Amino acid sequence: MSQVREIAQLGAQVLRLQAKEVQNIQSPEMQSIVIDMFTTLADTNGVGIAAPQISASWRLMIIASRPSERYPYAPEMEPVLMINPEFSALSETKEKDWEGCLSIPGIRAKVPRYTRIKVNYTNTAGETISQVFEDFIARVFQHEYDHLNGLVYLDRVENNRDIIAEVEFAKLMASSGKD
Ligand SMILES: [Zn+2]
Repeated sequence: MSQVREIAQLGAQVLRLQAKEVQNIQSPEMQSIVIDMFTTLADTNGVGIAAPQISASWRLMIIASRPSERYPYAPEMEPVLMINPEFSALSETKEKDWEGCLSIPGIRAKVPRYTRIKVNYTNTAGETISQVFEDFIARVFQHEYDHLNGLVYLDRVENNRDIIAEVEFAKLMASSGKD
């Protein structure tokens, strides 16, 4: 039975751990974590989730980009489970844009990220997948990947003035005509 799990909030120690590499995704423990990650993410309007966010310190993450009130400009994409993901930057520079996090409710901040990355991960079928991600998806990947290394997006904020309340973010989005 899958269940919506409680999302670890900033301050929870599990968000600060180096997550362990997954050896056997078919094990009942891993299968239950994966199913609960999908169920928990679907219960939110987030575009990604990492296993540590449901207090499971494993190198597992899901990217599920879809437009929503929270991310009006997000591209549509089938949810993908990534096992033991890795990436390298293809862009030299980083660009700042808004991020939020289910583990840090109520705020948004501008975070510098690589705009083009090459990612490698194992999928559920055990295949090694290599893909290039750009812009929003690249940003979501780097955000979730940080969770596997005990980092949250606030760690990457360059200036406290880049942090704003979610209600102000909503106003900003409304006034800028969506983008
Ligand atoms: Zn997050």
